[in-house]
Amino acid sequence: MDQRVKDRLEAHLVSSGLRRTKQRDVIVEAAFATDDHFNADELLEKTRKLDRTISRATIYRTLQLLVDCDLLREVDLGRDQTFYDPNFLDKPQHNHLICQDCDRVVEFEDDHAALLHDCITRRLGFQPLMKSMRIQAKCDEFARTGQCKFKQQREAALAN
Ligand SMILES: [Zn+2]
Ligand SMILES: [Zn+2]
Repeated sequence: MDQRVKDRLEAHLVSSGLRRTKQRDVIVEAAFATDDHFNADELLEKTRKLDRTISRATIYRTLQLLVDCDLLREVDLGRDQTFYDPNFLDKPQHNHLICQDCDRVVEFEDDHAALLHDCITRRLGFQPLMKSMRIQAKCDEFARTGQCKFKQQREAALAN
């Protein structure tokens, strides 16, 4: 696990008077194992492979804890459920491009976009805190061919 994740979580637990638990460690490890965005159900499924006794309530509590110490951010990917994003530590200003056909999420950073967000926010008399943009689009493959291999992959995965 990333040392920054460990350190920040440890500090938060100490200041909140919470103890470390093995289940929480498993959940945190799974949440930061890849740079995928995930929802609570996906994380539950992933962690249950490692520890079958982990409950949904523990997942939600741990997610809230990670959001509280700003290790995870809740992101709106235009779907029904809340998604969690583990990548703001490495890319604090990143944005999301989302394909409407295959749900593929591409992260991007752009200095111009960051500057623009800053300018707009300050012009309106606010202090920018967290800036993230969501662009809903059709991926190139879909626009060109009317089909998208990511969509086919996703459908195949859902069918299994
Ligand atoms: Zn992201
Ligand atoms: Zn697509």
